[in-house]
Amino acid sequence: MPRYALFLTAIVTLLGIQSASADVKLDVVATFSILGDFVKNVGGDRVFVNTLVGPNGNTHVYTPSPSDAKKLADANVIVVNGLGLEGWLDRLIKASGTKAPIIVATDGIKPRESAAKASDDEGHGRTDPHAWQAVANAKTYVENIRNGLVAADPEGRATYEENARKYLVRLDQLDRDVRSTISAIPSDKRLIVTNHRAFGYFEQEYGIKFASPQGVSAEAEPSAKGMASIITSIRQSNAPAVFLENITDPRLVEQVATETGVKIGGTLYSDALTDEKGEAPTYIDLVRHNLRQLSSALSN
Ligand code: ZN
Repeated sequence: MPRYALFLTAIVTLLGIQSASADVKLDVVATFSILGDFVKNVGGDRVFVNTLVGPNGNTHVYTPSPSDAKKLADANVIVVNGLGLEGWLDRLIKASGTKAPIIVATDGIKPRESAAKASDDEGHGRTDPHAWQAVANAKTYVENIRNGLVAADPEGRATYEENARKYLVRLDQLDRDVRSTISAIPSDKRLIVTNHRAFGYFEQEYGIKFASPQGVSAEAEPSAKGMASIITSIRQSNAPAVFLENITDPRLVEQVATETGVKIGGTLYSDALTDEKGEAPTYIDLVRHNLRQLSSALSN
C-alpha cells in the first residue's frame, strides 16, 4: 500500500467515509522510457509513473538533475534495468535518501557479453544491457515488475496479475510476428550495418546479424579517412542495407549509399521510445517499427 494511503485511509475511516485509498496511486519511478511503458501496462490505474530519462533520451550518459533525486525520495517503488545501463543511479539513490524498494527488471535474464571494447563513446560497457531487444526478455521484465508491484501494494494483486497477463499475451503475439517476418527474409540477406551496438539480444534471438563498422560511432561527422574505412567495412560486409543513425548530414548518408551501392534503411529505435507523436511511443510500437524497417530493407 502506498504510504500516504495508510494515512488517508485512517483519516477517512475516522470520518466514517468509504475508504479513499483507491484514489491514491502508487508512485513508481522508472529509470527510462521503455521501463516506464512496461510499468504503465502492468500498473494501470493503480500507479503514477515518473520516468527519469524521457523519450529519445540516452540512458547510458544521462546526467541526473536535483528534481530526479526528489522523484526518488517521493517514490513508493523504483524500477531499474540493471546490467550496467544506469551507471549514474547508485549515486543518485544515495543522494536522494530514498528507502523505496527497487525492482531490477532484468533479474533472471542471462546477460550477454558485448563485443565492444570496455566502454565506448556512447557509454556502452562490456555487459550488454539492452536485454529488452529480445521480446522473450521483455516478458521477464514484465513478470519482475508485476511481482515487485504486488509486493509493494498487495491490495492491487488481482489488478497487477490481470494487467500483466493481458500484456504478456500481446508480447507473445509480438514475438511470433517478429519470428515469422524474419523467417520470410532470405537467410543470406539477414545482415544489417549499423552504428548501434544495441541489438545483440535481437541478433541472438532472431538471427539477423548486425555489423558495426569501426569508426561509425566515434564521431557524429566522420573525417574523410573515417568515411573511407566505413565504406570499406560496408563493402566487405556484403550487407544489403545500412542504418547509420549518428551520421546526421544527409550528404554523408548519400555518399555511403553511392559508394557502396547499399540501401539506406530508416531509423531503428534501440534505447528509448519516442514521444506520443513519434513512431515508437510504446515498446510494442518500437519493436514493430524496427521490424518493418528491417523487413522492407532486406526483403527486396
Ligand atoms: Zn545503448
